[in-house]
Amino acid sequence: MQQFIDSYDFTGKKAIVRVDFNVPLNENFEITDDTRIRAALPTLKKVLAGGGALIIMSHLGRPKKVDPKFSLKHILAHVSELLGVPVQFAEDCQKAQAQAAALKPGEVLLLENLRYYAEEEGKPRGLAEDATDEEKKAAKAAVKASQKEFVKTLASYADCYINDAFGTAHRAHASTALIAEYFPNDKMFGYLMEGEIKAIDNVLKNAQRPFTAIIGGSKVSSKLAVLENMLEKVDNLIIGGGMGYTFIKAQGGHIGNSLHEDELMPQALEILAKAKEKGVNVYLSVQTLVADAFSQDANTQVVPSNEIPEGWEGVDAGPESLARWRDVILNSKTILWNGPVGVFEIEKFAQGTLQIAKDLAEATEKGAYSLVGGGDSVAAVTQMGFSKKVSYVSTGGGAMLEALEGKLLPGIAAILE
Ligand code: AMP
Repeated sequence: MQQFIDSYDFTGKKAIVRVDFNVPLNENFEITDDTRIRAALPTLKKVLAGGGALIIMSHLGRPKKVDPKFSLKHILAHVSELLGVPVQFAEDCQKAQAQAAALKPGEVLLLENLRYYAEEEGKPRGLAEDATDEEKKAAKAAVKASQKEFVKTLASYADCYINDAFGTAHRAHASTALIAEYFPNDKMFGYLMEGEIKAIDNVLKNAQRPFTAIIGGSKVSSKLAVLENMLEKVDNLIIGGGMGYTFIKAQGGHIGNSLHEDELMPQALEILAKAKEKGVNVYLSVQTLVADAFSQDANTQVVPSNEIPEGWEGVDAGPESLARWRDVILNSKTILWNGPVGVFEIEKFAQGTLQIAKDLAEATEKGAYSLVGGGDSVAAVTQMGFSKKVSYVSTGGGAMLEALEGKLLPGIAAILE
């Protein structure tokens, strides 16, 4: 049975909380962006304020064994500073029984990197490159078997479990999903997870109409499942960015040297046919900014998207595309944005993506619900200073993408079951 963090009584309880403290560190092991730590603070503070003790667990990077480079010790002082209380450290996440048992209300213990153990992900490590299928199978079975003990040990530290790591919610790992079964009546989402789930529901389940999805980014292949799911949900589908050229080429357009995936042209045509059948309006780019190189000092010109000359490649949406898309966006009540509509990392090619961010902000101010998530559009709105002007900006790239594909994420399912 799922509990809600707001109604749960933490008095005298020990809560084991899975957070995503996978923050970027520089060569001196200093945190360069602490957004992920800050994002978990409301949940952590709620437990402490409610009279509970905290056992915090996370991964950091992708260590394949115990490796001090990936130690969570690097972030201990900063977590302590942000929480406003001293934080103890367990050098081994599997040997923290005594420290966990000694925790008093208001005290905090941070466990060392869960991914020092292969059991966290449940995938075998150190297999020889020439391992046979039999050997691979045996190694997988071995790690799955020892994973049970690993999970049980983590669960033994606490009275309740909170998952607040949306960034890893699409993984069925020990700490993100499997551990939940040890807390049938005492498992819950943290505030961050709750916010992400509500945002997903606002677009996928309770969208006010008209509902518009703007799907951009580089490749059709990585967004195919999202596009297909969107066809079941939206009134309008704006397809921009590099992936748009596969659609334009599939329709017989000339796209010069623009990014495209020939092998996906049949699927692109299928998506367009399905959209027609379902009455979904598709808005491809009609006009494109093209460049003769992928750099700030490239020569550029604006041309129709289906008449791009050889030697030139589409790098951003042209003014006419943006004007049409703006009309659609401003007439929408729900807007989902996934993926930039141009190569926004290069300033000269960022105008289209900036315009979409502005349109979204304006539509939001007029009362629309807007969600930005799953892909580089998150980096774009944040970098361009629009994150406070849209309704919600997701913190989980891969997790949000899978949610938008219509999948129930293992980290969410484990709490709901
Ligand atoms: P994604 O992670 O799928 O959202 O893709 C984001 C990437 O798509 C960004 O790095 C953009 O630079 C890239 N992108 C967007 N439009 C284009 C384009 N016209 N040509 C090449 N790359 C693009």
